[in-house]
Amino acid sequence: LQPQVLDLNSRIDNLQKMLRRLIREDITFEVELADSLPYIKADPGQLEQILMNLVINARDAMPNGGRIIIRSGCREFDRPFTLLHPGSKKGHYVWFSIRDTGNGISPEDQKKIFQPFFTTKEKGKGTGLGLATVYGIVKQSGGYITVESAPNQGCCFTIYLPRTDDGP
Ligand code: ADP
Ligand code: MG
Repeated sequence: LQPQVLDLNSRIDNLQKMLRRLIREDITFEVELADSLPYIKADPGQLEQILMNLVINARDAMPNGGRIIIRSGCREFDRPFTLLHPGSKKGHYVWFSIRDTGNGISPEDQKKIFQPFFTTKEKGKGTGLGLATVYGIVKQSGGYITVESAPNQGCCFTIYLPRTDDGP
């Protein structure tokens, strides 16, 4: 594990081609990055792992094609945010989101998806470890992950990572 001072936008940009190759031709892949972002401190390999796991899940949720949109931005929280994260700290966060137009996740399943070995995929197709891994990395980095979804309306995972005042 080697956290570095990183520009999230250029990391995502560098990974675009690789991520595109993970999905089929019937899925549109869009990337809309913020104009400029504060730096974050993260391990580049772990960042790649997060993006891959989320893009693969989005792909698997769209057997008949659809859209994946990756966005980035930054946001200041002047108080602890959302009931999902009781221990959250106020502060400046850099975020990125992966949105898809797939099957979506029911409210019951949303409570379980970050648990290791929870999967709705056929035997041999899913390990149930993708989101547990993402969750672990995000927590360890002092960040947060949220999911918004409605059945058959796709879903959106957003990862918030604390900004750093350090320079590269
Ligand atoms: P796996 O992909 O091996 O099943 P994950 O931990 O990556 O394990 O995901 C757990 C479960 O969360 C999936 O089986 C699926 O039910 C649900 N899920 C994750 N991402 C999405 C998504 N983008 N759309 C719909 N369901 C999802
Ligand atoms: Mg997965």
